[in-house]
This record gives sequence, structure tokens and C-alpha cells, in this order.
Amino acid sequence: MKVVLQNLSKAFPSRNKKSKDEVIAVNDFTFEIPDGKLIGLLGPSGCGKSTTLNLICGLQKPTSGRIFFGEDDVTDLPAEHRGVGLVFQNYALYPHLTVRQNICFPLENLKGKDKLSKAQMEQKALAVAKLVQIDELMDRKPSELSGGQQQRVAIARALVKMPRVLLLDEPLSNLDARLRLQTREEIKRIQKETGITTVFVTHDQDEAMSISDLIVVMKDGVLQQIGRPQQVYDDPANLFVAKFLGTPPISVFDGRVADGRLFIGENDVMDVNGAPDGEVCAGIRPEGFVLDKDGPLVCRLNGVEVMGRDISILASHSACEAPVIRAIVSSDNTVERAEDSVRFALKRHKVFLFEKESGKRIAFQV
Ligand code: ADP
Ligand code: MG
Repeated sequence: MKVVLQNLSKAFPSRNKKSKDEVIAVNDFTFEIPDGKLIGLLGPSGCGKSTTLNLICGLQKPTSGRIFFGEDDVTDLPAEHRGVGLVFQNYALYPHLTVRQNICFPLENLKGKDKLSKAQMEQKALAVAKLVQIDELMDRKPSELSGGQQQRVAIARALVKMPRVLLLDEPLSNLDARLRLQTREEIKRIQKETGITTVFVTHDQDEAMSISDLIVVMKDGVLQQIGRPQQVYDDPANLFVAKFLGTPPISVFDGRVADGRLFIGENDVMDVNGAPDGEVCAGIRPEGFVLDKDGPLVCRLNGVEVMGRDISILASHSACEAPVIRAIVSSDNTVERAEDSVRFALKRHKVFLFEKESGKRIAFQV
């Protein structure tokens, strides 16, 4: 089921009673979630991710704009008739019910021709429990389960009616690091197996990058960029997106373009033909630095961390906005730790220029 958001906006009255200003949690969103794909809604806390999800499922009404499931306009359809499955960060299971009863719960109120017998309900519950691999735990209460198992029950409960759209709001945030990794693989597998169009909300770029077919990056209620994870990483629309994606993060320098050359501080670092003269922000991905004893970018060497496959070089430069530059090079390199300085050449396609004020990307010939 394809989902289309069309000029979707949601304003809330300000929480500060004295202020008349509204909070625009979602600001004129237009995008399409292709049928059967998993899209990651990514952005910092407060950027409007949960509000977007609540609009899609019908828990909140948009201030303006429309929502379509396939060809159906569902904007005015109550949540219970939209056929969505929801999973939240805090699993929200019924503590006094068993796993089986929790999973069957959404099936209890089906009426008329959809009404199921107890045996039919349990059969459906068992099928989804198998899918999320908790079929051994059907008689336990939530208190007898680990966090990861509880979240699987919540996912099973969301799936048992075979929703048209599955919505997950930071579903892994309460899990420890190892379980988080494992459960995100599981969600990906379950999504592939069922083919249900899924929206996965997270503030964790790693999580979004690894699990999503498409990511939607948002900031302050405004959509910044939508694309395949690698495409957004390789071709960020603006400085915010470039900084939000990638670990270690991109290093951002105060730069200057003059006559088609990029200067960082005193260093004349590379050709940027096509970029207009003026002050810029220059972002360099950690893998964009190349060790080169004659390289144009001269940094102070602060440390070297060998990490098996890679070497992480900690450096600094007066024009860098962060105190530490992290460059990642292959462990085939050797770094002379005793030196005070380190010189880099740059991989052109790992260097991005942005307008100083707006943060908008500036094109140049790569
Ligand atoms: P996220 O899920 O990305 O952290 P939210 O969608 O929860 O962000 O919130 C987006 C913005 O809308 C925030 O500024 C938040 O304070 C505001 N907001 C969310 N819900 C309400 C509400 N019911 N009333 C007033 N403001 C709200
Ligand atoms: Mg939220």
C-alpha cells in the first residue's frame, strides 16, 4: 500500500499559555512512501517525527493537507478504520494478559463478517508469534519477558490484523545496544517477509541508515531530504543533513572560494570549478582525507587510534569548527605519531561546499 502525504501540516497552540505563537510540528510535507518499502523518518528530538506518524495513523488531525493510502483519501477516516499497526518505544502491553491474549487483543472487537472464533484468533496469533519468534512464550505475562521479547510481542500485536501500513515510533530506544542491533535486523526481516509498507521513526542515524529503503530527514518540522540512505550520505542537500548523517561525523571548516580554488585557512586545498567566489562552509567526510606528506591541508596531529581494519587519525585545524577532526584511513598506512603535524590530500567526492548563512549545498565540478 503506497502512502502519500500531500502538503501536510500540523500546528499546535504554544505550550506557553502567554504566547500566541503556534508550534508548527509538521510543515507542508509532501512525499510518497512506495508500496512495500520501509522508510526511516529521521531527525533530532522535537523535529516532528511522532506527529507525522500520528497524522498517518489518524491519532491526530492535520491542520491542512491530505493523506492517501493507495488511491483512498484517508484524511478524515478515524484511526480504527485505517488499517494501521502501531508500535511505540514503551511496548504498551497489557500487564495482566498473557502474550497470547495481548496478541489476540486487536482481534477481539472485530464485528460482523470479520468476527473470528477463539480458535481462529489463536491461530492468527500463533502465526505472527512465529514470524517474530516468540511462539514459545505464548503463556507468559509481559513481566516474565525481556525488553526485546516484549517489543516482539508489541510488533506481533501490531501485525496480527495484517495492517495496510505498519508504523514504528522509536521502537528500539528502550533496548540495550546489542539487542537494539539484533532487533533492527529482525524488523527488517519481518518487513521484507510481510511486504507491509512501514514507517520507522528514529533519531539515530545509524539505525535509520541500516534499516531503511528510503530515509526522510527532517528538522524543525521541515523535510530536508528524501532518498536512499547511501544517496543522502553521498549527496547531502544541505549542511544539516551532511552533519546529521555519518559516524564519525563530517568535519566542517570555514573556507573561501577564490578563482575556482578552495582555501581552508592558509591552505589552498583543491579545485572547485563552478563554485562562485566567497566564504563557504567546507565539509569533509572522515574517509575523504588521504595521508600525503605533500598534501595541501596541514593539520596538527593529536593522536592515532588503530582499529584493526582502519586507522583513526585525530587532528585539529584552526579553521575547523570542531576541536577534533577525525580522519579514517586504511590500516595499510603508517602514521608517524611523533610528528606534530599531518598533511592530507582530499578525495574530491567526499568534499561538500555549503552556503555560510543558509547551509544550502553549493555545486562544483567533481
Ligand atoms: P519528535 O517525535 O520528532 O521528537 P514531536 O512530533 O513529538 O517530535 O514534536 C514536534 C513538536 O511539536 C515539538 O516542538 C513538540 O513540543 C510539539 N508538540 C508535539 N505534540 C504537541 C501537543 N500535543 N501540543 C503542543 N505541542 C506539541
Ligand atoms: Mg517522538
